[in-house]
Amino acid sequence: MKIDIIGGGPAGLYFAILMKKARASHQITVYERNGPDDTFGWGVVFSGKTLANLRAADEVSHAEITKEFEAWDNVDVVHRDAKISIHGNSFSGIARLQLLKILQRRAEELGVEIDFYSEIYNVEAVRQDCDLMLAADGVNSTVRSRYAKQFQPELDVRANRYIWYGTNQLFHGLTLTFRENSAGVFAAHSYKFNRTTSTFIVECDPQTWDNAGFENMSADKTLGYVGEVFAPDLNGHKLLSNNSKWINFLLVKNRNWFFENVVLIGDALHTAHFSIGSGTKLAMEDAIALAESFQQTANVSEALTHFTQTRRHTIEDYQAAAFESMQWFENAASYMHLSPIELAYVLMTRSGRVTYDDLKRRAPEFIEQYESSNPRWRL
Ligand SMILES: Cc1cc2nc3c(=O)[nH]c(=O)nc-3n(C[C@H](O)[C@H](O)[C@H](O)COP(=O)(O)OP(=O)(O)OC[C@H]3O[C@@H](n4cnc5c(N)ncnc54)[C@H](O)[C@@H]3O)c2cc1C
Repeated sequence: MKIDIIGGGPAGLYFAILMKKARASHQITVYERNGPDDTFGWGVVFSGKTLANLRAADEVSHAEITKEFEAWDNVDVVHRDAKISIHGNSFSGIARLQLLKILQRRAEELGVEIDFYSEIYNVEAVRQDCDLMLAADGVNSTVRSRYAKQFQPELDVRANRYIWYGTNQLFHGLTLTFRENSAGVFAAHSYKFNRTTSTFIVECDPQTWDNAGFENMSADKTLGYVGEVFAPDLNGHKLLSNNSKWINFLLVKNRNWFFENVVLIGDALHTAHFSIGSGTKLAMEDAIALAESFQQTANVSEALTHFTQTRRHTIEDYQAAAFESMQWFENAASYMHLSPIELAYVLMTRSGRVTYDDLKRRAPEFIEQYESSNPRWRL
């Protein structure tokens, strides 16, 4: 089968690996507009369960990925200068660039052709020339816009702004930090992803963003301003920019996931708010599900139907949980009157996927602390 993949992010590369592994005779090309070492962002996070899925799908890349990992089991919530730790969560972080290098290497070893610096504008020409075209071209997918009539995307630009920085201050857990100043409330999502660096994503509502005057502020001044807001948390370290810019989160859904020989996966197909740290996980698990569909049948139309039928429910569940979480952060200001322990509890249970019982089992000291701070909450 001739497979053309648009986009060499985690979704496109991982699908290429799994298909080539399943059948060496597949002719697979990945078209990537950037070079092998260019990427945006800092680190990404995976849960323990995702790692088990990656191991089952391809032990070789799994071994490489876990060699590079920084692992932790706590979520820390920082509010009014107090830090509450909730243990019993299994997460790991890796630099996005590191992850991509591992996947690029593995794909090339297996015989996948990766065409770097190759931006595809004429997607129809590519589509006509292959048996299967995979649209793994990210959140602003060209393929999705080109065939908008067929895919019927639903795009929702959310009001909050966020910016993706790094820092050499190490956050030894998934740390959610809330700071207020005269402009409003800022939330930071941070975690270390190697021995020297942490991801540091800052989010605020549009009112706070306007009040702070970010619209007309230079990149350097913005970096300084945000660094000042989180000075108590950065321990003298600077925030690091990687051409970082404020953006609005784009929520992506598609009514149809494929037509004829074209299928969407990863961020091109769906997005989930970064506060549940699932974008890369979902992109790679899409690749696993799609490759498994081709194990069931070599017929493209049947495989794409199978993929949609088996994967849609999982994606809808994740998007529903991520939506709750996103709305929580959009309304963060309304929770700032809570004490640190109350805020931590509300935050942990915000998406409905973690319950009181889960926490009691996984983090009994946290529940003990929560209940002893107000005996009325004892269930
Ligand atoms: C602030 C922020 C924080 C995040 N944090 C996390 C996290 O902690 N954990 C997590 O799992 N995920 C996280 N994500 C999400 C994650 O980055 C994405 O969900 C994930 O990268 C999706 O993978 P993908 O392969 O679908 O798309 P992408 O990684 O976006 O890859 C798409 C690729 O396609 C290429 N491309 C696009 N158009 C063309 C074209 N026309 N021709 C050729 N190439 C093209 C692009 O250059 C890119 O390399 C975060 C995202 C953001 C914005």
